[in-house]
Amino acid sequence: MSDNKRVIIAGAGPVGCCAALILAEAGIPVTMLEAADTLPQDMRASTFHPPTLELLDRFGITARLKDVGLITPQFQLRDRYEGLIAEFDLIDVADLTPHPYRIQAEQFKLTGIAVEMLKKYPHAQVIFGAKVTGASQTADHAEITYEQDGEARTMRGAYVIGCDGSRSAVRQSANIEFPGFTFPELFVTASLDEDVQATVPDMGHVCYIYDPEEWCAIIHAPNMWRILIPTKPNADRDYVISDEYLFPRVKFFAKLDHDPKLVHRTRYDVHQRVADTYNKGRILIAGDAAHLNNPLGGMGMNGGIQDAYNLADKLVTILNEGADEKLLDRYTRQRREIAVEYVHAQTGRNKKMMEERDPEVRRKNYDELRAIAADPKRRRELIRQTTMINAMERAEAIE
Ligand SMILES: Cc1cc2nc3c(=O)[nH]c(=O)nc-3n(C[C@H](O)[C@H](O)[C@H](O)COP(=O)(O)OP(=O)(O)OC[C@H]3O[C@@H](n4cnc5c(N)ncnc54)[C@H](O)[C@@H]3O)c2cc1C
Repeated sequence: MSDNKRVIIAGAGPVGCCAALILAEAGIPVTMLEAADTLPQDMRASTFHPPTLELLDRFGITARLKDVGLITPQFQLRDRYEGLIAEFDLIDVADLTPHPYRIQAEQFKLTGIAVEMLKKYPHAQVIFGAKVTGASQTADHAEITYEQDGEARTMRGAYVIGCDGSRSAVRQSANIEFPGFTFPELFVTASLDEDVQATVPDMGHVCYIYDPEEWCAIIHAPNMWRILIPTKPNADRDYVISDEYLFPRVKFFAKLDHDPKLVHRTRYDVHQRVADTYNKGRILIAGDAAHLNNPLGGMGMNGGIQDAYNLADKLVTILNEGADEKLLDRYTRQRREIAVEYVHAQTGRNKKMMEERDPEVRRKNYDELRAIAADPKRRRELIRQTTMINAMERAEAIE
């Protein structure tokens, strides 16, 4: 098999793994370089939306995620003190998708399944402990530089895809701008080994809790409940993950009368950024390397996986069928517009609604949400939007 078809992928996150599978399945030699020594097990994304599950059906991954995840057809919008505002059920879009639910499963479950599947392709290689330092190109090949075992190495292929996350070395070395901003507050997540429904029986498996001072997202993932809260701007990074800071907050939202058993806690900066382009000749970027958004709505990884399928399918037609490379410009047009017009717009709206300070506006918002929930047509439109069904349809329509 010719190496001048090889695609080199930086980063074995969900996005790199999906791209690698599609290329390998099409017979294209693919090498994925991962900086960590094993697959990262980070507690980040845990929501898979219906359009992503449809894409993952292609390799039978959705069925496997069902085995290890939690199927959640409903989501709730709640007020911190008043409780339920409205509940939505994805059964309302059952005619549009074979998966009218989210699957809650940690992102490392997907990468674990994908890397295991890649083993059956002799032309697919995953190299751990390989930290990519940059990418370059000529008219007929792309080259990646990386460090492994303390040595600087290079590898050549037809294309390089940077799936190496928010600080992407591939994006930076290709001088692709990444404009946007960083929110002044940190976001904190705490994972509890507690049964929240034992203390708050009407708490749904996916809840967005509105409050002007301190909103909260509560997500039931397999074997744990995860709570996401913001901090004040300029908060002390260590203090916000201390017992002193977290225990009263977790106890309040989960209505616990004892100190919670926390199995994981972290805080992180949240950015809203989109790269100027996702393709520069033979160098391509996807996922967090190309776009970042706040996690309210669970769209970062989903958008990234959707990039991976879009891009890898195009590379297959270019490399296997001789299609015009202009297809890669369409990749940028389709996926960049979704990041800006859809994911940023929707996650921004979610955050604004959750933290609305004006009591009158807040009241109007609640009335509006209740009216939407009571109206089948409007309810369906809200679900199409929040599950990314609209986004996938829009991307397909972009030439
Ligand atoms: C708390 C939290 C909750 C979230 N919840 C959701 C959710 O529910 N739904 C959702 O859709 N999104 C969610 N997100 C966002 C989601 O986690 C990311 O969008 C997703 O991980 C992006 O996948 P990726 O493959 O592009 O990048 P990453 O997951 O960041 O993977 C990048 C990979 O590249 C490797 N790497 C980095 N640098 C190099 C290098 N120089 N050389 C080689 N390898 C390198 C890393 O080790 C990593 O394995 C959440 C994020 C956070 C922080």
